[in-house]
Amino acid sequence: MNAFDTSLQSGKTKVLRMKHPRRFRSAFLPISRPGGTAGLALVAEKAIKGWLFQCSMCGNCILQTTTYICPMLCPKGLRNGPCGSGSEDHCCVNPGRPCVWHLIYRRAEAMENLEGLLEVQAPLDWSRVGHSTWLALFLEARKRKLLTITALKPLRDWKKGISILFRDVRQPAWWDGDQEHHPATYPEQVSRLQTALTEGEFVVTSEVVPPTSGVSEDFTQKVEVLRGRVHAVNVAENPMATAHMSSLAGCQILKSLGLESILQVTARDYQRLILQSEVLGASALGINNILCLTGDAPMTGRAPFMGLPFDLDATQMLWILRRLRDQGLLLDGRQIDDPPMIFLGAAGSPNDPNPAYDALRLEKKINAGAQFIQTQLVFERTIVERWLEALDKRDLLLKAHVLIGISPLRSLQQAISLQERIPDITIPSTILSRLAESSCPERLGIDMALELIVEIRELPGVSGVHLMALRETDTTNRLLDGLEPILESAS
Ligand code: SF4
Repeated sequence: MNAFDTSLQSGKTKVLRMKHPRRFRSAFLPISRPGGTAGLALVAEKAIKGWLFQCSMCGNCILQTTTYICPMLCPKGLRNGPCGSGSEDHCCVNPGRPCVWHLIYRRAEAMENLEGLLEVQAPLDWSRVGHSTWLALFLEARKRKLLTITALKPLRDWKKGISILFRDVRQPAWWDGDQEHHPATYPEQVSRLQTALTEGEFVVTSEVVPPTSGVSEDFTQKVEVLRGRVHAVNVAENPMATAHMSSLAGCQILKSLGLESILQVTARDYQRLILQSEVLGASALGINNILCLTGDAPMTGRAPFMGLPFDLDATQMLWILRRLRDQGLLLDGRQIDDPPMIFLGAAGSPNDPNPAYDALRLEKKINAGAQFIQTQLVFERTIVERWLEALDKRDLLLKAHVLIGISPLRSLQQAISLQERIPDITIPSTILSRLAESSCPERLGIDMALELIVEIRELPGVSGVHLMALRETDTTNRLLDGLEPILESAS
């Protein structure tokens, strides 16, 4: 446990948190302090909304769409749904309080308005941070002549007018988010991975962690074992918020070896400018598969910690990249002639205790542009079935290809530590008992992973598997050796 965790767990801190919940809000400070009318509006809004909603004056208010629970209470500043690592009991950044997005989902469900959460919300306009949204609404209403007596009648029109007004303020022209599905508009496949998925092959992807090193020899040897045995290789981006060789550099090394790669981009490490420039560069290098992730909390890494909240979330990254690809549109409104050719992916959390919530989160990501989903590690068939059912209810299985995350466990201790360190992983007690009783847990771990692949292979909606946490070359070899006959019998 690091210093940050220790301070969070102390009894004194818990008491402080109960007494002064606002101490734990993200800080949104204005670039310039507004004066005059703007200053007065700010003071009034801060006093009222601060008291009612713990508002931190992000200046880009979307309270009407989030059941009047402020999403900016999320320490990562996620405006489109949870990161996938929290629950109603804890937030992955601040374990002492619940994930605010789970509270929003629960309230929306009680209000029978879960669909209202599907609108893709814009990233913060940082020039409005620390300014009054009420004033922005007032000025917009005045511009549209909504404040005249005639405009207020009849009530029906007035309500409609107000709802359009709120929408226009929270959805600026440079964003224009909606609730619709936006399938890719390009006709041809942009990568071997996309071709294999589209042709219905049972696809195998694998994740590698690039070295913390300025040379590539070890990495090159490590990935060589995957040659010809997987369709594509994810190159992790600073896993556990700890610096490694960049994902883009790793992808380029794989490309030079003739291996197909999947570039990982995380909202933690990419702000809006670097996201667009990196993806333009990746496409120019022939790296076309991109997985958009939120990223582990900075506190999971090593001190000194980077700041919160993030500039973007995973849904916003997908929205930006899809528009860049399909409309040639940069976020600043510039049009480009040769947009990047990219195949976009997102992450799913089948272990979510409420799979309907994860299905909602994924629908938003798929609407925004995700074409394939790679999931968190799963260890039980019933978990996958339950989750696929929830996706099917939302009609998502035909809109995106699903690859289930699989990893061979090495020992009982590793299984327990995995479960403790990564909140959205659930390992059933039957598996823990089997590991405890085994004389060769490593061999058993590989056998259990292969058993699970056989079980889920035939489930409708499963397009393949994503192999993760393969640290030892020997384990990888044995797993892939065992996988070969399974894949042959499937084809
Ligand atoms: S950081 Fe993650 S777990 Fe914490 S409130 Fe935000 S979405 Fe929920």
